[in-house]
Amino acid sequence: MNPLKVAFHTLGCKLNFSESSTLARQLRQSGYEITGFDEVADIYVIHSCTVTAVAEKKSRAAISQAHRRNPEAKVAVIGCYSELSAEKLRHLDGVDWVLGNEEKFNLTDFLTAVTPGSKFISGTTAAVHPQPSEMTFHAAFSSGDRTRSFLKIQDGCDHFCTYCTIPYARGRSRSATASATLEVFRQAAATGIREVVLTGVNIGDFGRKNGESLYDLLQLLDKEAPVGRIRISSIEPELLTDDIINLMASSKVLMPHFHLPLQSGSDAILQAMKRRYNAALFAGRVSEIHAKMPHACIVADVIVGFPGEDDERFAETLQFLESLPLSGLHVFSFSSRPGTPAARYAGQVDAAIKKERSRLLQNLTTRKQNQFYNQCKGMAVNVLFESDNNNGFMSGFSENYIRVKTAYNPTLINRVVPIELQTRLRNGVYLYEPVITQQTYK
Ligand code: SF4
Repeated sequence: MNPLKVAFHTLGCKLNFSESSTLARQLRQSGYEITGFDEVADIYVIHSCTVTAVAEKKSRAAISQAHRRNPEAKVAVIGCYSELSAEKLRHLDGVDWVLGNEEKFNLTDFLTAVTPGSKFISGTTAAVHPQPSEMTFHAAFSSGDRTRSFLKIQDGCDHFCTYCTIPYARGRSRSATASATLEVFRQAAATGIREVVLTGVNIGDFGRKNGESLYDLLQLLDKEAPVGRIRISSIEPELLTDDIINLMASSKVLMPHFHLPLQSGSDAILQAMKRRYNAALFAGRVSEIHAKMPHACIVADVIVGFPGEDDERFAETLQFLESLPLSGLHVFSFSSRPGTPAARYAGQVDAAIKKERSRLLQNLTTRKQNQFYNQCKGMAVNVLFESDNNNGFMSGFSENYIRVKTAYNPTLINRVVPIELQTRLRNGVYLYEPVITQQTYK
């Protein structure tokens, strides 16, 4: 009897991808066949996202796509959107299971009700956790990418920034112990990847409820070094301690790459967002990193159009960003989320103004990235090449997240290659033209 085919479609953050990959591994171990979302499958799993209205729309679109692809198939909608809008989702055409951020980890149990050829049970099952504050931590890591794995080290958040739904969707901040995290890290490393990205909702809060800290975990990983390259994903500025910066500055395995959510350069807006730092603290973190690692990649997230952001406050943000040695920006438009305080704030900003402010920040991003790439010219770096063949070219990233391109050569896949950043292409990335010798590759 042919195994049932299950197809995943994952939206949203790296955390979702690490969890989908883990659930797929569990299903494979239970005898299911994992297939592509474009294929005809018996069961479709939509790992949803609710961070913006657009993300919810894309989640619903994926549900109808799956239902159209095989009207006989069962559809499970899991994750953040399910956690916050279970009633709405359970009444959508074709939806059979709506599983929240705790219940999704019992996916295999829910699916076992489905056996080849059996008449599928009728009616939609919705299971979300009655008390998000009591969710448990489920470890996860992504596999299937030949070079890198996203390792989930933390989940949930206790910060309740006024624009954010994540604490309601993913519950309170939680993590496993540093030693248990190292064990899962080793499992990810055993898949042959050379780089691990530590991910979560608020990774700076790792271990707080176990009497440990992110610094403790990084020290352990630096010492054990189960792989040669470890990146930390987004970290709240006020949780990026001097200890962490100093450790990363002296470490061979912790990459000099920082992703810091700033959101606004105006203290008045930061207060309205209930962020836990002001512009001065943020600038202090950036200059501390820059002083210890002058070629580190420092990228900041910014939200334009938060309620109350008038021209003067936006100008403050623009000026503040201009003044910082950043390598780039991720620019987001404020998206009013139901149930958050900011959705009820006065001074909602017009869409056209948001669009114009985004455009101005995108221009600034290009300039910042250009400056950063130019500053790194002539640097000796180590590039981990990925497997994609893009019109005869492949690419990879240096330690400080500079993208380097080279002619496609399968022997370079998942290899760390020492190069000097010399030739920049029109689109800004650096070009590597190997002089082929036996010893070239590590
Ligand atoms: S720190 Fe703020 S923005 Fe980030 S997940 Fe927590 S509540 Fe949301």
